[in-house]
Amino acid sequence: MQEPMAITLQVASEPALPFGHGVGHDAQAAFPPELEWQERALCAQTDPEAFFPEKGGSTREAKRVCLSCDVRVECLDYALGNDERFGIWGGLSERERRRVKKRAV
Ligand code: SF4
Repeated sequence: MQEPMAITLQVASEPALPFGHGVGHDAQAAFPPELEWQERALCAQTDPEAFFPEKGGSTREAKRVCLSCDVRVECLDYALGNDERFGIWGGLSERERRRVKKRAV
């Protein structure tokens, strides 16, 4: 009989997605100052799954929401600075953010 495999879970000190979009944040807890922009994240009031579509899924609805979001610049800056790999941030997909980063180098 095989031994059961040990699984180790690592808990990041920084909040993981989808917190980055203000979703899942404890409304009673204050955001750290560098993340206060998330209090105004428009996506926190919408369907968070639209911002993390399945591979090949549509990003149109999420990008439409981003166009009206007051913290779009802060959100994109955060995503670029923290190398966010998944989802729509600041109105850009992962691929679009990679292009922005390449151009900045
Ligand atoms: S720009 Fe888009 S992803 Fe970023 S906080 Fe606003 S709605 Fe959410």
